[in-house]
Amino acid sequence: RNDTVSELLKPHHRTRPQPRGRRAGPETRARLDTVLGGMPRRRDRLIEHLHRIQDSLGHLPADLLTALAEALSLAVAEVYEVASFYHHFDPVREDGHPPQAVTVRVCDSITCALAGAEALVDRLPARLGPEVRVQRVSCVGRCDAAPVAVVGRRPLPAATPAGIANAIKAGEIEDSIPPAEDYDAYRSTGGYGFLQNLALQASDERREWVIAEIERSELRGLGGAGFPAGRKWRIVRAQPSPRLMAVNLDEGEPGTFKDRYHLETRPHRFLEGMLIAANAVGIEAIYVYLRDEYAGCRALLERELHRLQADPPCPIPPIELRRGAGAYICGEESAMIESIEGRRGLPRMRPPYVAERGLFGRPTLVHNLETLHWVPEILQRGAHWFLSHGRNGRRGLRTFSLSGRVNRPGVYVAPAGISARELIDEYGGGLPAGKRLKAYFPGGASGGILPASLEDLPLDFDTLQEHGCFIGSAAVIVLAEGDSVREAALNAMRFFARESCGQCTPCRVGCDRAARLMAAPEWDLPSLQDLATVLADASICGLGQAAPNPLRCLIRYFPEELGQ
Ligand code: SF4
Repeated sequence: RNDTVSELLKPHHRTRPQPRGRRAGPETRARLDTVLGGMPRRRDRLIEHLHRIQDSLGHLPADLLTALAEALSLAVAEVYEVASFYHHFDPVREDGHPPQAVTVRVCDSITCALAGAEALVDRLPARLGPEVRVQRVSCVGRCDAAPVAVVGRRPLPAATPAGIANAIKAGEIEDSIPPAEDYDAYRSTGGYGFLQNLALQASDERREWVIAEIERSELRGLGGAGFPAGRKWRIVRAQPSPRLMAVNLDEGEPGTFKDRYHLETRPHRFLEGMLIAANAVGIEAIYVYLRDEYAGCRALLERELHRLQADPPCPIPPIELRRGAGAYICGEESAMIESIEGRRGLPRMRPPYVAERGLFGRPTLVHNLETLHWVPEILQRGAHWFLSHGRNGRRGLRTFSLSGRVNRPGVYVAPAGISARELIDEYGGGLPAGKRLKAYFPGGASGGILPASLEDLPLDFDTLQEHGCFIGSAAVIVLAEGDSVREAALNAMRFFARESCGQCTPCRVGCDRAARLMAAPEWDLPSLQDLATVLADASICGLGQAAPNPLRCLIRYFPEELGQ
């Protein structure tokens, strides 16, 4: 099976003539070998190589990048363009000084901004001194503990300057492994039983039943796009083999931290769902793409994948864990595929869709963690069980990330179609004393902003479009009276400007221009409305298309904040 996979990879990793240009000396080549050790020198593993260098040295020295280009038969420019694309790589020190020993990343996205991230980030340089690098970063997926700073690789909840300084002083800069249910515990309660039976029966009829049951459950892609999961399995299975699978654990939408929760508590549940899908669809190899911000989860997943592969419940395809490098856009499926191939995360034009031509040019089944998380339980308890949940005319279950002005921010599994009011009161413990709901983001920064008067809308796919919003990854961020919706919309636009991959002009220029216009005391409304139209109509991917949602909602629902 491994031979089949390496054959599959061959055309994409064939040895090319070494491009001309800068050459590394023998000493630099030897240094690179020391850092990389026995890692296979494959082009698709370029980002893994860069991580290894960055982890070892704290930055990416120019001479090692030249040697790396040589080792992978790439032009130096190709290595640089990847190294400079991702926020977590530090390829060039502009001032020529050696890298600082520690980097503190302060999240300044919406929930953390509501919790005082601006004041925090302003005070840190003076408090921490020049030896510590302080960076503003986009959402780090811990919005229930805002404001959050990541010291080295260690996330610090409810961060304060003193707490950050103490962590650095104590050398506490590594994340710890979450206490999740491990492989033995999962198996001891019947885990992987369904997969084992499916593999034992190994019949087309049984696989057909599995796909039909997932179709009957109406399970949809819970990363945000909402495409019916069963239909996707059928489409990929109809493609010629070899077929691949990519699992998207790159949740970066501000306000979203549900996949981390499932990963930290029951990682084998989504892994069993992943292997059931792979079996039903006929998948040759699986790639799991995890965001770099989740360092503790990465250690957990490495350990649990090792245990699973060392003693699998049945024959399973090869599984490779890949590490993102701090780029929101890599949550877009085709950008993720580019990143797994070792390139910049630039979304691809469609068609062809990744189901037909995805990873390494092969038909690829792409799923988000939560979608796979539900698969084993749906198959064990039946589609009717999943459909028996739901509220306000909607059916199924969803995992909501709830943050902002609520008493109990956190991750909640709730009926699809629950309203924001119900979610806040029944799960989030209501708003803090004396606060009243003013607005909420129903689906992170991209999903738009709704006013309190629409607190009873059912939160689900297809229910919010007429109000200029969508549920996306079900990240509900609550704003109370006294909060500025205008500030929140500006924060969202700045996020899109920072995270735009820069590939297409409407988004590259439009998000930045819109953020500048929105920061002005007096708004140039006609220009902003034009920009919103261009962004929505002419951007290549969902980032640019959704970027104007908060802006448009602000204009539609909160004209008083614009002095209208
Ligand atoms: Fe890149 Fe933005 Fe264009 Fe998407 S819309 S491809 S993020 S520039």
